[in-house]
Amino acid sequence: MENKRIVIIGAGVAGINAATKLVDNGYPGELITIIDRGNDPINRLPEEVMTGMLGAGGWSDGKLVVSTVQGGQLAKYCGEEKAMSLMEEVVANFTRFHPKPEDISCSDPKTEPDFIKPYFDLRMSLVWHIGSNYLHEIAKNWYSFLQDKGVNFSWNTTVTNIDFQDLIIKYKQGEDEFVALDAYDELIFAVGKSGIDFAQQLSDTYKLPTEAKAVQIGVRFEAPQKYFQKLIDVSYDFKLYQKHDNVSIRSFCTNNNAAYVAVEETYGNLSYNGHAKKGEEFRNNMTNFGILMEIKGIEDPFKWSRDVVQKLQFNGKGLYYSPSRTVSKTSEGTDVTAYQVEFIDGFKEALGEYANRVLNFIDNMNTVFNFGDDWGMYIPEVKYLSPEPLVKYDDLSLNEYPNVHFVGDALSARGITVSGAHGIYVSEYLLANR
Ligand SMILES: Cc1cc2nc3c(=O)[nH]c(=O)nc-3n(C[C@H](O)[C@H](O)[C@H](O)COP(=O)(O)OP(=O)(O)OC[C@H]3O[C@@H](n4cnc5c(N)ncnc54)[C@H](O)[C@@H]3O)c2cc1C
Repeated sequence: MENKRIVIIGAGVAGINAATKLVDNGYPGELITIIDRGNDPINRLPEEVMTGMLGAGGWSDGKLVVSTVQGGQLAKYCGEEKAMSLMEEVVANFTRFHPKPEDISCSDPKTEPDFIKPYFDLRMSLVWHIGSNYLHEIAKNWYSFLQDKGVNFSWNTTVTNIDFQDLIIKYKQGEDEFVALDAYDELIFAVGKSGIDFAQQLSDTYKLPTEAKAVQIGVRFEAPQKYFQKLIDVSYDFKLYQKHDNVSIRSFCTNNNAAYVAVEETYGNLSYNGHAKKGEEFRNNMTNFGILMEIKGIEDPFKWSRDVVQKLQFNGKGLYYSPSRTVSKTSEGTDVTAYQVEFIDGFKEALGEYANRVLNFIDNMNTVFNFGDDWGMYIPEVKYLSPEPLVKYDDLSLNEYPNVHFVGDALSARGITVSGAHGIYVSEYLLANR
């Protein structure tokens, strides 16, 4: 058992934390291979938002949320206490490879401020803020550590099919296709959001039993930070929250100080996210955050979300609406790619009654924070949650294929710490059963 070959598909947060746990505990790096469709951290470009070393998390804002009420499912597999300790291990890994760990900041709100009531509740979680620009350095340090331990990496390699029965992996490098026979003993499937189509393809092929997910859709809101400062002082990554029947709506992934809107491309459509840089030279005194609805009870939520996102495109771009502003600059100094609309009819048409939930949320915020017309929204922000494959809780493996482990956003995570924790959890199991 000691000599099992472990193949990890996806060098994102989940895959990299899994490999780290293994080598930290003496597992021979030579037996671990990590395959990724993107670039290593030296060659990865800023516009490669979703792929390459450390995955989507590698170029993200680096807000490490330590919480079992957000970021996807973890405690359901391993219990609350274990979940918290796994997430702390992920934070410790980011700290360990950080070039300036003393610059990591923390927000840990304990009470809800009165001024947000009666419109909102505030969800309170401990958040460590690493800063996007440090993530690049962290990725390089982490990569060289794993290389020194003998871990094999295969970059710019897209896995196109896996035969779980006969352990065959098919992959592409450029236009060339390859087949690896008898390719692994244990497989960690960690393809994240950019591999969602591939995960769906495997799920269909193997008729994997899955659990349907609620729709997660909304907009990325942006305004000058000064309006939100009194709340930021209480909670850096504030989570304003409202609940109405089958819809809960919340602010999500807040970026401050040096806050930039990021464009995501999935299925050829554009949607929006955000990130924050560390360092005074990047300061733009803006705040951006998602206003995301979780809508329950929609049949085929995946298809519904994709259809709505498609309707919210114009000329190959997502939309931007503001009563007074124009699109902001990216951290590279170019305009955020979005088509500015004068009216929000298209948004209302695509989202129907749900658009009013978002607009009402913004109105309520305006009452509390008084930003008047000085705001804008990038449309849409979306979290495509493919149906979650049902896995065994002790090692996140498929029922039919006990040597195939699903982790990270490809399973049920929605953030860095939970994804990394999935990876560590599976590796702990492999170490205990080697
Ligand atoms: C702009 C942005 C900002 C974000 N900010 C935050 C934040 O501040 N805090 C937070 O908690 N979360 C944030 N997130 C979400 C977070 O990045 C993800 O939840 C997390 O990275 C998921 O980890 P993962 O390892 O499951 O997948 P990923 O990190 O997405 O890694 C998956 C890897 O698999 C590779 N891959 C995909 N398909 C294949 C294939 N077929 N063959 C080979 N390789 C493949 C990809 O290249 C990628 O490197 C952000 C996301 C984005 C896009």
